[in-house]
Amino acid sequence: MKKNKMYHLVCGILIISVAASISVSAGTAKRKVKPVTRYNTAETAAATQAATQAQEKKTAVAQNGVYHLSENSKYRPYLWKNADGSAPDYKAYVFEPKVFNGHTVFVDPGHGDNSAPEANQKREKYYPVDDSLLKSMKTSMVGAKAYGVGVEARDSKNVYDKIETEPEFSLKVALKLKDLLINNGYRVVMSRTDFNQNISNGARSAIAGETSDIMVSIHSNTGKNSGTLSFYPGDSDYISGSTYPGYTNIMGLTKSNVELSKKLAENMESNITMTTGLKNKGTHSAVLRIFSYSSIPTCLVEVGFADNATDAKILSTKKDAIATSMANAIDQYFNK
Ligand SMILES: [Zn+2]
Repeated sequence: MKKNKMYHLVCGILIISVAASISVSAGTAKRKVKPVTRYNTAETAAATQAATQAQEKKTAVAQNGVYHLSENSKYRPYLWKNADGSAPDYKAYVFEPKVFNGHTVFVDPGHGDNSAPEANQKREKYYPVDDSLLKSMKTSMVGAKAYGVGVEARDSKNVYDKIETEPEFSLKVALKLKDLLINNGYRVVMSRTDFNQNISNGARSAIAGETSDIMVSIHSNTGKNSGTLSFYPGDSDYISGSTYPGYTNIMGLTKSNVELSKKLAENMESNITMTTGLKNKGTHSAVLRIFSYSSIPTCLVEVGFADNATDAKILSTKKDAIATSMANAIDQYFNK
């Protein structure tokens, strides 16, 4: 993500999504999930919920493997625009498995080309709602301040072998994860498949909401620290240390989605750290742009610190293990 706390904020920046082309049956959505008591109650309830949610299938209508954000997305007014005010082509890439297991996963390789206009232009709102709604949240991010920089990333090479920047790392891991998931029967939607692609964080999340059941955003950290951090949406922001009362509610993030997001983040944290040896620095709630544009369970993982030699070596040499642990975390999430 970024170099400091503010950077984290910018990096994960909001997301919202559009309900437009999501085909969620009202009947299924309202179905009560009966908690099953075995192991940890909360964990099992979340897993049951996730499995149930799988039945609410989304129909990603892709043309030649490309999905375009729907024209009537409620997030469009808040998303990054071209310099002339026109809307860019917000698109993502869809990969179908041989036999679909009913779950679609949005894999977001954080960032992209830092020279892309999306990376630096202050054009996208942190919170995709009218400023007046943010009063109770006690945030100063309203008016002109509500518009953040795009998806700028750490572009210094890691300290271990000086080979990779953050966008390069996240893409390599994401492509491996995509292959693993497809082999396991998941449909995968990716915000980018190439280094040159770099749509805004809001657009990534908005498209995820239209196409997918869950979203995983992959990042690497800096800040002279060590270990893996996993984030999910919540009113309390671990990164800034502040609390934003009503944040999840104002953004339309349901209690169910917050709980499932936490479960997903916890799965990521435990699997990645157990598999790679990276230190477990915990699962925390955060207020990020990529969360604010989200209508589905979502998490953001800072796999390790690229400016720490021990972490950077793992980031550089253990990508298969990192991707495998993420795929296992997703399997666990869906109770497979
Ligand atoms: Zn990042």
